[in-house]
Amino acid sequence: MKSAPTLAIVIPCYNEEEVLPETRRRVSGLLDGLVATGKISGDSAIYFVDDGSRDRTWPLIEQFASEDRHVSGIKLSRNRGHQNALLAGLFSAEGDAIVSVDADLQDDIGAIGEMVDRFLAGVEIVYGVRRTRDTDSPFKRTTAELFYRLIGALGADSIRNHADYRLMSRRAVENLKQYREVNLYLRGIVPLLGFRSEIVHYDRSLRFAGESKYPLRKMIALALDAITSFSLVPLRLITFIGLAVFVGTMLVSVWALWARFFSGNAIPGWTSVVLPIYFLGGIQIFCIGMLGEYLGKTYAEVKGRPRFVVERTVGFARAAPAMTADDDATIHTRA
Ligand code: UDP
Ligand code: MG
Repeated sequence: MKSAPTLAIVIPCYNEEEVLPETRRRVSGLLDGLVATGKISGDSAIYFVDDGSRDRTWPLIEQFASEDRHVSGIKLSRNRGHQNALLAGLFSAEGDAIVSVDADLQDDIGAIGEMVDRFLAGVEIVYGVRRTRDTDSPFKRTTAELFYRLIGALGADSIRNHADYRLMSRRAVENLKQYREVNLYLRGIVPLLGFRSEIVHYDRSLRFAGESKYPLRKMIALALDAITSFSLVPLRLITFIGLAVFVGTMLVSVWALWARFFSGNAIPGWTSVVLPIYFLGGIQIFCIGMLGEYLGKTYAEVKGRPRFVVERTVGFARAAPAMTADDDATIHTRA
């Protein structure tokens, strides 16, 4: 029988001293429970990432780590934001499957058991999706809804009502490393990886202590990152606006020239002054749009995203049986 996979739980923390002891207690309890059922190995561990907190978050993490060999800590040199803290955790954690969850445990960690079950069944990315948004304020609910609609309309693939609560296989995380972009919107990148993925529903509760570390300012910044790193639609829009103005000018020109030469009641100077303004304006906006097209291409090149991710191969390296065809099955065990 295959040995049980090692699970890593990554928890980004920014000024979370109020919640940490309880969070650690609950997550450790959950891990112990899963280890007891034999689903995950006894090496499974929790990784706290301190995102440059100014309170006692780091001393607490150090204390946990000294008390328990199943707790590790990573301290970022300064606050780099939730997405970067998450990435630091994902890339440092050891394990066959990595779950990321917020420190405030608003996302029911009870769902981790089900995520692990799916993983054991061969699913490589399991998205936690909240059933309702009852516990969010009406403001957060509306802005979130608007945001998902907008981003959907702009063509970025994202899972609705999924925040960064998910399980990823080691292989998925290794492939994620190839996305080197600095403007990070993980919720958009993870679906790009492909691989077999499924959704697990859970109920989102209120933060049990402390206050939100996501003020409106950070939410807007995240939304802007999401849009500008996944969509060239705003740039393309400029081209269309330019074209529309240009075509409109053409139509008005026909009318204005007719009025000037055939109707006899044109205001002197109107045609020769107004038409060129619109004409040039249209051409200028259109040209900016054209520049935008190239800028968009450059942007995509600079990001250097991998152009494909191989899920599996068959028939390669027949001559070299050392690279076993079993590679596929080894995702659950440590290489
Ligand atoms: N967080 C972080 N860096 C930041 C802001 C937030 O690591 O700059 C962490 C925070 O500690 C928490 C998670 O991101 O674990 C989500 O933040 P929060 O719960 O405050 O957001 P909300 O649930 O209100 O959207
Ligand atoms: Mg929260």
